[in-house]
Amino acid sequence: MAFDYDPGNVFARILRGEIPAKTVFENEHALAFHDVRPQAPVHVLVIPKGPYASLDHFAAEATAVEQAGFLAAVAEVCRMEGLEPGFRAIANTREAGGQEVPHFHIHILGGRPLGPMLS
Ligand code: IMP
Repeated sequence: MAFDYDPGNVFARILRGEIPAKTVFENEHALAFHDVRPQAPVHVLVIPKGPYASLDHFAAEATAVEQAGFLAAVAEVCRMEGLEPGFRAIANTREAGGQEVPHFHIHILGGRPLGPMLS
């Protein structure tokens, strides 16, 4: 599959410093910030710094070092936010998957019991 990336998306603009974000954590390969419309007491988005549109784009084209740096950021956010009791990680992917912002991101949700995911 060929992947396209639109550099005008809102998360690309956050990475370029064109619009603000409430940063939680940053490393060389990833940025984590609070979602503007939180769905749980903790709702953090983790994004790679590279131009990847979706999880499968990231899996196919990011280097192993980028992927490791991204996952390290996810783990660090969970530690910093006190999510040892548990959390939910979601990667909506393209239109049918409910993805609104076409820059790969993982939602980290927690801070309350989330129960089973039914839909
Ligand atoms: P998606 O549906 O998985 O693409 O989720 C996109 C998420 O980005 C939504 O939960 C939005 O609330 C969030 N969002 C959109 N714009 C911003 C922003 O400027 N800062 C932080 N979160 C944002």
